[in-house]
Amino acid sequence: MKKPVLYIVIPCYNEQEVLPITSGMFLQKLRDLAAAGKVSEESRVLFVNDGSKDDTWRIIRQLAEQDEHFLGVSLSRNRGHQNALLGGLMAAKERCDVTISIDCDGQDDINAMDEMIDAYLDGCEIVYGVRSRRDTDTFFKRFTAEGFYHLMNWLGAQIVFNHADYRLMSSRALNEFANFKEVNIFLRGMVPMVGFKSTSVYYERAERIAGESHYPLKKMLALAFDGITSLSVKPIRLITGLGVVVSVLSFIGVLWALIAALAGHTVAGWASTVCMVCFMGGVQLLCLGVIGEYIGKIYMETKHRPRYILSEKTWDKDE
Ligand code: UDP
Ligand code: MG
Repeated sequence: MKKPVLYIVIPCYNEQEVLPITSGMFLQKLRDLAAAGKVSEESRVLFVNDGSKDDTWRIIRQLAEQDEHFLGVSLSRNRGHQNALLGGLMAAKERCDVTISIDCDGQDDINAMDEMIDAYLDGCEIVYGVRSRRDTDTFFKRFTAEGFYHLMNWLGAQIVFNHADYRLMSSRALNEFANFKEVNIFLRGMVPMVGFKSTSVYYERAERIAGESHYPLKKMLALAFDGITSLSVKPIRLITGLGVVVSVLSFIGVLWALIAALAGHTVAGWASTVCMVCFMGGVQLLCLGVIGEYIGKIYMETKHRPRYILSEKTWDKDE
């Protein structure tokens, strides 16, 4: 079999402190993988500059001049981690057989790439890098992040627990992924929708080598909110559920008001007012839920996601 061409795709935003350190590590990993005969000599490290305001793009251009194994693309402005990564993967997919996406701050263990490539050579089209431990995270980050994964799964988005954006994707998987045309993207929730043979590789996540995280709590919450609303219409269903609960409660409320009125414990007009308020509350929430169901359907339709992806055909004999 021909050795696969690997592109390591790395989004970078204001990373002038880490880039000079980690670029060498990525290059060395690429060389080791090629020396071990696992990937082709044509493999490359592709940096995506996400509209950085510092020297990041200048550093990337310098690296590309110094060594042909380094390539770079630059976004016209800052579009956020997910878009930058997608841009890089789409630029890479025509030029390679397989990609590995990774952050540029050295937090994700590059040695897991060996195992990822092994899984790819074994027929996997997608390999998820999963953090085995979160010791280096603060209690707060661990608590919020793990809670987020549970919440996402509960809401019906099947994301891989403790997997971020360190993953291998074959160009085949990427070509299918390119048919997901939605604008609000949350890659780790969307990639599993592609299907195909996939597996997980475990690694330990380290501290950032230098520089600062670009994911303060505010951005993390925004990412979580984006992830939930772009993958799941369950929040709308919750409204319907709430409508049912409120309707039942208001029914009880109506009975109570009637009984109290008949028993003569109330002032005139109280029972009818309470009945109206309870009734309207229940009906309105239920109606909102029904309208929401339709909006949810429209929302999913507007994404124009592929309805299915074929993985094999019996009449395809070229493999
Ligand atoms: N990043 C990006 N655009 C942004 C923010 C971040 O491309 O607007 C990149 C960043 O350079 C890094 C990766 O996304 O390679 C993850 O960011 P960071 O390490 O700050 O997040 P954390 O690891 O703290 O969650
Ligand atoms: Mg990081």
